[in-house]
Amino acid sequence: MTDCIFCKIIAGEIPSTKIYEDDEVLAFLDLSQATPGHTLLVPKQHVQDIFAYDTDLASRVFARLPKIARAIKASDPAITGMNIINNNGAIAYQSVFHSHIHLIPRYKEADDFS
Ligand code: ADP
Repeated sequence: MTDCIFCKIIAGEIPSTKIYEDDEVLAFLDLSQATPGHTLLVPKQHVQDIFAYDTDLASRVFARLPKIARAIKASDPAITGMNIINNNGAIAYQSVFHSHIHLIPRYKEADDFS
């Protein structure tokens, strides 16, 4: 989709800090870090939200979560938890209409990021 910011990131037209990439998904750092390491996982194919997903594609995209979550956790021993969030529709606070999953690391001490 030509006017989609995440499609432009996937195409390399807008810079991003890549965390993981394969033929079907890209994970990159969120521009606005809720906590350090806040990452977005997106399908390379433009899918607006959970309601628009092909079921097989959804199962493959969401199946990447444990591997990427473990890699983020392994990057810093202070990460002891993680919020995984997927907003669907403006009413649910989705602001970029290319489906994405937030991985938000949480740190061992009561962190100051919330
Ligand atoms: P919200 O803005 O309420 O978090 P979303 O769940 O749709 O809604 O999240 C969109 C996310 O995309 C935001 O966290 C925002 O910081 C992030 N974002 C927007 N533009 C970029 C960009 N160019 N690179 C990385 N992240 C981006």
